[in-house]
Amino acid sequence: MKFVPPVLFLLFGIALVGLWGLERKLRFARILAAGFCVLALAMFSHFGGIPPEVRQNAVVSGFLYAASMVLIGDGMLQRSGKRFPAWLALLYLTGITGALWYYAYIDRDLIARIYVLNFGMGAILLHAAWRARFLIRGSWTDRALLLLLLLSGLHFFPRTLLTIGSVSMPTTPQQFGQTEFWHMVVLSTSLLGAMGGLCLLGIIVVDIVSKLRQERDLDPLTGVLNRRGLERSIRKLEAVERGLIRVVAACDLDRFKAINDTYGHYAGDAVLSTFAEIIRRNVRKGDIVARTGGEEFVLVLDHISEEEAFAFSERVRRAVETGRFPGVSAMEPVTCSFGLARALPGEPFWTTVRRADKALYQAKRSGRNQTRAEWQAGNHADARA
Ligand code: GH3
Ligand code: MG
Ligand code: MG
Repeated sequence: MKFVPPVLFLLFGIALVGLWGLERKLRFARILAAGFCVLALAMFSHFGGIPPEVRQNAVVSGFLYAASMVLIGDGMLQRSGKRFPAWLALLYLTGITGALWYYAYIDRDLIARIYVLNFGMGAILLHAAWRARFLIRGSWTDRALLLLLLLSGLHFFPRTLLTIGSVSMPTTPQQFGQTEFWHMVVLSTSLLGAMGGLCLLGIIVVDIVSKLRQERDLDPLTGVLNRRGLERSIRKLEAVERGLIRVVAACDLDRFKAINDTYGHYAGDAVLSTFAEIIRRNVRKGDIVARTGGEEFVLVLDHISEEEAFAFSERVRRAVETGRFPGVSAMEPVTCSFGLARALPGEPFWTTVRRADKALYQAKRSGRNQTRAEWQAGNHADARA
């Protein structure tokens, strides 16, 4: 029975290594895996009596316990790009191990050792939770992780206080193994460990899936949405906000084929990503930007009047015209054209895009490097033809 928790933690460690193998970018999973393995090692050392001398064992296993908490706290923080500072880790490790040594060799006090180790481990996890407190404003997985960290840290305090106060403590390790406190420790560690480990694995699987989904929906060259991502965003938008004042913009680089022919495909790619970057810099939060074809982009501008939409596309057009594009001569400015259409109530999204495309075609026919909106005088009938 006593080896159930370490075997459990070892299995979690192995599962985490497996997840890290699946997605190498999840470096934090590797740190967490190390944390769970060291925790298992601490328990094997502690429960298995390695080293056998009691005081040595208390110091060695205590150090391993504390180290595992530091690794687990650091792993959780690294998931959000934060760290458990090395100096703080060192402070906790030397503080806890030093105090354990003191109460093992100088002032022999078993109860003091229990307090030092349990409160020390709790403090490490709570410290990590404090550094990760910003996760409260994150996604549900962020909040679940924060809660997990907080509960794991907190549980050390009532567990130790309640059980240590309720029994008369024996002085020999053999008797200690029979105490209510010890059974509580093994039971609560198994339960919390199993629940916590499962939650953690679940959160990491969700992380991996959302990362893959994100990559699937993004254009790797420009970083904006691809056609699939655009369709997903539109479905989401239409589910919550039907009939809003929305303008669709179709835009296309002018004579891009000539840019490729003159400067090469590589420079053409750089022009595309710089162009996307200019668009991204100019849109508002909540607007949708997607690359739907070679050098064709579709923008969905929400809560916007016709005048504002026109002013927006002119602003982008001028930024492109005056912008610097790496690998392209400044003597021949890169330009683009825009076509704008207002979404009509209940109209399928791609029908609006088709109308925006017709306005874009008008802009191209009228000499390029300009914006045409279907609501402009003289454009309307033509655009809907
Ligand atoms: P217009 O002003 O009428 O839009 O002329 P254009 O030359 O821009 O249009 P056209 O549709 O004739 O040519 C588009 C070119 O875009 C052809 C293709 O080689 C190039 N292209 C498409 N995708 C990519 C890409 O991913 N990278 C690069 N470098 N070029 C691309
Ligand atoms: Mg073009
Ligand atoms: Mg084109």
